[in-house]
Amino acid sequence: MPELPEVETIKNDLRELVAGSRVERAEVLHSSLVEWPGAEEFVRRLEGVRITGARRRGKHLIIELDSGDALVLQLKIGGQLLLVPPVEEPRKNVMLVLYLDGSRRLFLRDQTEFTRARVLNREELEERLADLGPEPFSGEFSAGCLREKVGSRRAQIKPLLLDQKVVSGIGNIYADEILFGARVHPRRKANTLTEAEWERLHAAIRKNLAAGIEHRGTTVRLYRDVLNRPGGHQHHLRVFERHGEPCPECGGEVARAKVGGRPTHFCPACQPEDGPGDGEALTLL
Ligand SMILES: [Zn+2]
Repeated sequence: MPELPEVETIKNDLRELVAGSRVERAEVLHSSLVEWPGAEEFVRRLEGVRITGARRRGKHLIIELDSGDALVLQLKIGGQLLLVPPVEEPRKNVMLVLYLDGSRRLFLRDQTEFTRARVLNREELEERLADLGPEPFSGEFSAGCLREKVGSRRAQIKPLLLDQKVVSGIGNIYADEILFGARVHPRRKANTLTEAEWERLHAAIRKNLAAGIEHRGTTVRLYRDVLNRPGGHQHHLRVFERHGEPCPECGGEVARAKVGGRPTHFCPACQPEDGPGDGEALTLL
């Protein structure tokens, strides 16, 4: 599903291609899409307003409207926003169509039908985003803040990275890449991580997400940008879905296992399950 780099790419596309457009009509084609308010009011609050901008918070895509409302989308596994033209009109799996001025339309398509949408006023939006953890690129997000938040927890580190209250924007693909980059086993208990490992984890979070943004997102299966183009970061993944292939660092075999119920990819040699051991801890000091 779209994680921080993919939502960031879509947000930038919307700013460039759609901001300033007026929504003449809105059509909901799949009733499970609308989570708030009711379907009729959802449509009424989208019609006749102008899109003033777009922003991202965690994995939430926020389309700002001149009414003061925001259209907030959580593009789950298969969610795509497509601008027609230039993109050809999608025929199947359309959940929402925004008819824009200038004879353009913005299609929300999701073949998995998991994408959810809300129209929220400022207060409701603030409330909706209040529980999200820090943005990975914000000044507030440091190795110390990460350790302070979860460093005493006995929970496994990978599910903690996926917890949007701990840090926002990371999903299953980038979590595996981040843990590999930090040389931390996904099953390590948070309270066993060394200071050096928290530092490496923090650096790997920023490095991997920044690379994902630079490559306009990761298309493993369904992700597309607003002009229906796949991202490029899938060519830079080092362990995600590379199980059975040689580890790019040590040449050993990349493994796959379930961690916290999610398929997880890692190198058992580069990311030892029992931690770095005294030897490495000493050399890092
Ligand atoms: Zn390795």
